[in-house]
Amino acid sequence: MRYQGSLYRPPSEADACILQATLGCSWNRCTYCAMYRDKAFSVRDLDESLADLREAGERFGGRVTKLFVADGDALILGMPEWEAILSEAAKQFPNLRRVSCYAQACNVLEKSADELATLRSWDLSRLYIGPESGDPVTLKRIGKNTTFEQFVEAADQARAAGLEQSVIFLLGAGGTERSAEHARESARLATAMNPEFLAALTLTVVPETPLARMEEKGRFELPGILDLLTELRTFVAEAKPDDALFRTNHASNYLPLAGRLPRDGAAMAASIDAALSGQVKLRPEWSRGL
Ligand code: SF4
Repeated sequence: MRYQGSLYRPPSEADACILQATLGCSWNRCTYCAMYRDKAFSVRDLDESLADLREAGERFGGRVTKLFVADGDALILGMPEWEAILSEAAKQFPNLRRVSCYAQACNVLEKSADELATLRSWDLSRLYIGPESGDPVTLKRIGKNTTFEQFVEAADQARAAGLEQSVIFLLGAGGTERSAEHARESARLATAMNPEFLAALTLTVVPETPLARMEEKGRFELPGILDLLTELRTFVAEAKPDDALFRTNHASNYLPLAGRLPRDGAAMAASIDAALSGQVKLRPEWSRGL
């Protein structure tokens, strides 16, 4: 596999083979995100992507069980590209169990119901979608360009096509000013999107991003650790999807949690209460990552 620039994948794809079929993110304007600022968005040459799959097949073949298609919103690929990639992947990796990618809500909404169902029939199986917040004010401020309602509509369409969803929220995204609304509305959006998997990450203000410039000008203030934990508490207590696996195992978080929501919401809230009262050790600042 050949890669250009920084490469990112969700924690649960740590053991996946990564194909960089697109470069960067087609939006690339979320104020907090520095992931793909080093490259302009483009679709990688399909022959190169297919050659990478063949090379990975020769080297790892039967050992590959997961394929993650990068970069930031690879669902944007057209149907001919997806067909070629997914059929080559099936040929090269006989034990493939999961193919996944990051997706923006607009990538889902730009595809028809038939196209989404066809992608599922070609074995694309999971989408990672990051609304980061359900609070309309926060969504606007962080540059998401997507509304609460559009996220719900995208989730409904993906579910109807049989695509699993892993939905990501970002503690601290509302700043101190919108902290309570951000937590509450994020729980409401998690409930409405009703995904199979939910995750919370914690915002780090990355230098050189628009958010860092807002912080310098006093227009954004990151909540303190106790307030971030309070956001997390609100989220686990109020999010009521049918049955979602929830994790805070990302390196950015102060308190790793895992459980099912809503079943384990009260137990996780009790763990957070213990952390808030100082009875549980938090991840030290030096070992946190983006
Ligand atoms: S859509 Fe995702 S990858 Fe693109 S700028 Fe926003 S957070 Fe970054």
